[in-house]
Amino acid sequence: MVGSLVMAETSSDQIFTNAIIYGHYESDSIAIKNGKVIFIGQKQSALEYANTDTNIIDLQQRFVLPGFIDNHNHVFEAASELGGNCELDSEATLEEQIPYLEACKINAETDGRGWLMGYGFSLESTLDSDSEYTPLEIIDSVFPDRPVVIMEQTSHSMWVNSKALKIARIGQQSPDPQGGAYLKDSSTGKLNGILLDNAGDQIMEMGWNSQSELFEQSYQGLMFGLEEAAAHGITTIGDGRMYWKRGWYDVWLEAEQNQDLTARVSLRPWVYPSMAIPSQLEVFEKMYSDDKSRLLLVDQVKMYSDGIFINGTAKTLAPYLDTYLPQSPNGLNYIPPAQMKEWLTALDKIGFSAHIHAIGDGAVRESLDAIESIRKQGSKKPYTLTHVELINDEDVPRFKQLNVSADFQVGSDYVAKHQHQWAEAFLGARRAKAMMNLDAILKTDANITLSSDWNVHDINPLVGIANSLIMGKTGLTDIYTAIDAYTLNAAKSLGIEDITGSIEVGKSADFAILERDITTLSARQIAKTQILMTVLRGEIVYEDTQ
Ligand SMILES: [Zn+2]
Repeated sequence: MVGSLVMAETSSDQIFTNAIIYGHYESDSIAIKNGKVIFIGQKQSALEYANTDTNIIDLQQRFVLPGFIDNHNHVFEAASELGGNCELDSEATLEEQIPYLEACKINAETDGRGWLMGYGFSLESTLDSDSEYTPLEIIDSVFPDRPVVIMEQTSHSMWVNSKALKIARIGQQSPDPQGGAYLKDSSTGKLNGILLDNAGDQIMEMGWNSQSELFEQSYQGLMFGLEEAAAHGITTIGDGRMYWKRGWYDVWLEAEQNQDLTARVSLRPWVYPSMAIPSQLEVFEKMYSDDKSRLLLVDQVKMYSDGIFINGTAKTLAPYLDTYLPQSPNGLNYIPPAQMKEWLTALDKIGFSAHIHAIGDGAVRESLDAIESIRKQGSKKPYTLTHVELINDEDVPRFKQLNVSADFQVGSDYVAKHQHQWAEAFLGARRAKAMMNLDAILKTDANITLSSDWNVHDINPLVGIANSLIMGKTGLTDIYTAIDAYTLNAAKSLGIEDITGSIEVGKSADFAILERDITTLSARQIAKTQILMTVLRGEIVYEDTQ
């Protein structure tokens, strides 16, 4: 009896061998049982864990990293076909969009008279064109009678027609909702068809919820998104936001039940700015789960402190130089400071922490203030500020002091090259130059994470890692720090560092297997390195077949 018991305990399900293992260069093999690492060492010793059923995988000197943890990824919506029939040109001026709008009309003809959703214009090219027409007049000329809502490329504003405004009961006299604004033509004072931030979210929700095959299409979108993530070595995802009023939670649950999840996911229900706190808490409480044996974790919300710079809605300490919102010269809050304190306190009581969108230096300060108040009440949970594009010098040390993670996205070329000239018109050269300073936070020894914000930036973690290393004085100092930012640090931000984020005995067997050891490569080579295999809890969820 004793003998067979020992046998059962020491036999493994898989052994990865002949590998270069990150953090364990003296070893070449990893044995796995029940999805967990049970041994890391030399092949000869690893084979002692083999029995006749053990799957032994020869990695032929490939490089094993901990599976990437993308702390902020819109995996649910990024690849969704909802609205996929209507794509505008982000470079086009207002009138140049007319042929694109007409194409949308033709594409959508088969699906009747209901809401049409689209994607892809840019706020700047639409509003700063010298057309004699407003965006509302242009879109009405193509769509006089069916409701249309088109999402801007950043997702932070919507272009709608008169029919959509009518259904949503929005008129010239309607007061702006919290966290949003209905833009008006400066000469006539009439609505111009552009709705900023939360004003646009509300109307998009009506469009989304009107779709006839909402569940099926959402499920498909999620599957495409997960496939992309797995193909890029991502084994854990911090959800960018879950619009639970759009039925997304049920889609996630179904995917979990069908065993279709190829990543662990920290699902983050979205905090609706214009809905009362108690009714939302009731919903969150039902969703809550910190059961780490599940792939779905629900113990953080997504909350927006502010908007974004190009809308004039990111909250700044000093006023904007130029803004579409002269009545709010310092931007605006989705969740104002006093309400955020109230939210964090109430959420803490039901087990939730928060992943907080904070872009302007005003929003960063206000969010840190709110977390400071919850720390004083004794909360030990992991809080994260995401984007953190502009941070006042006085607030830099507070991340470490308050144990708050700073989550940055550097997956685009302009960020890596520190080209923030686009922000100069709004903020002036000094503030534009001070943006995206990872190094300042790194020097304080605070927890830094990198994420994609896909599909805002490239989903490929290796691109983010490579970019963080070529940012000069504002970037990360070395490859090990960059890898940590996409693995172990992100696990800490999600409160799961005891189960994943590094290759250790006892942790989940979550790996990204790369063609080469990226610690020896240049940034250019890192970005081009192939992912050969992605392993979640010992199961291969992606394999490069080339
Ligand atoms: Zn995002």
